[in-house]
Amino acid sequence: MISIERARKLILSECEPLPAETLPLSAVLGRVLCSPAVADVDIPPFDNSAMDGYAVRAADTVGALPGSPVSLRIVDTIAAGRVGTVEVMPGCAAKIMTGAPMPRGADAVVESEATREATGAVEVVRTVARRENVRPKGEDSAVGSVVLDEGHVLGPAEIGVLASIGRREVRVFGRPSVSILATGSELVEPGSPLAPGQIRNSNSYTAEAQCRELGLEPARLGIARDDYQVTVDLMRSGLSGDILITSGGVSVGEFDFVKQAQDDLGVQRRLWRVAMKPGKPLSFGVFERPDGRRCLVFGVPGNPAAAMVSFELFIRPAVLRMMGRQAVARPEQRAVLAQDESPTADWVRVVRMHVSRDAGLLMAYSTGAQGSGRLRSMVGANALAFVPPGRRLLAGEEVAVLVLGEDLAEV
Ligand code: AMP
Ligand code: MG
Repeated sequence: MISIERARKLILSECEPLPAETLPLSAVLGRVLCSPAVADVDIPPFDNSAMDGYAVRAADTVGALPGSPVSLRIVDTIAAGRVGTVEVMPGCAAKIMTGAPMPRGADAVVESEATREATGAVEVVRTVARRENVRPKGEDSAVGSVVLDEGHVLGPAEIGVLASIGRREVRVFGRPSVSILATGSELVEPGSPLAPGQIRNSNSYTAEAQCRELGLEPARLGIARDDYQVTVDLMRSGLSGDILITSGGVSVGEFDFVKQAQDDLGVQRRLWRVAMKPGKPLSFGVFERPDGRRCLVFGVPGNPAAAMVSFELFIRPAVLRMMGRQAVARPEQRAVLAQDESPTADWVRVVRMHVSRDAGLLMAYSTGAQGSGRLRSMVGANALAFVPPGRRLLAGEEVAVLVLGEDLAEV
């Protein structure tokens, strides 16, 4: 049995960024750039006004005050998108809108608020400095400069930058195709009535949603009843993608066929069992396809909280690495335990926590009963805490928690 950290390292050592693909700008949110993006024009491409106002010669405004304004003759009106044709000579001004190109002759913009318009003229009531309210050509990005490095994760701002340099398509690392298979003869899909002894399949849906949060479009392969051949056949169909996730059937029960099916399908097991609770019976292996690509095969335990925690700790980092991300870890935070947490003798307990701010302190509250089968222990969990084997953690103690989703700084 190996530690959580070693298991994660081992899994990541098998993860390579997927081959690049070219996608339209609207489809790259969350993807990773696989070559630097270079500006092919200056951004902005020309000197332009930062304000609605008047383009002037700064020297003309020297000494202007509300009580003794400078009057300038209006020679043009320049809307955004239009290039003014009249040169601004001494004693003159051009009415100008935000984003419109600076006209020849003018070297500053005085904002409308510091002017009074008279017929055919404008009265300026303050001195403006040269270049004031002028956004110089290339101030955001100069032509030829790298605006985003390779490896950059594309969020809304990055996508906007790519649009501003004229990119319609972007080359990004691929995203893994994922198949999800539930195993268990007791399982039925939501929507079907329960016969005696049956429960609903929830793992496929939590795993699907966890994948979707990462921008994936996973396929649910349904439910394999606890039958060796059925398990083999359904698992085989999942090996054509980049990741296969099975849940259940990976422990030591008499009807647990997942490991045997992995072996017989040619999946090379890299690990089985991690020293943690929930999630101990995790298995992980690699399937080399005849086409030279590989499918990573995760067998997560059937208990719903165990399945979710396993995804969070192991599958999520693997997915992100395959999408080209270097940083794949969730952020850590220090928080004060609101209650004692008892250890197990041999395994790290992974406790689902709700962290909230209480009198200025980040407090970690257990989400409630923590049995591996208690799916609701994940509801409202925004952090995971780790109780080392054999050491009781005490209320009031500060511990490191792994932050899930929302930023605790905002709590
Ligand atoms: P297993 O890992 O197959 O021994 O299953 C452990 C526990 O998780 C059992 O109580 C199963 O009924 C339950 N379980 C297994 N698969 C699922 C699933 N897809 N959805 C909800 N519960 C499940
Ligand atoms: Mg089972």
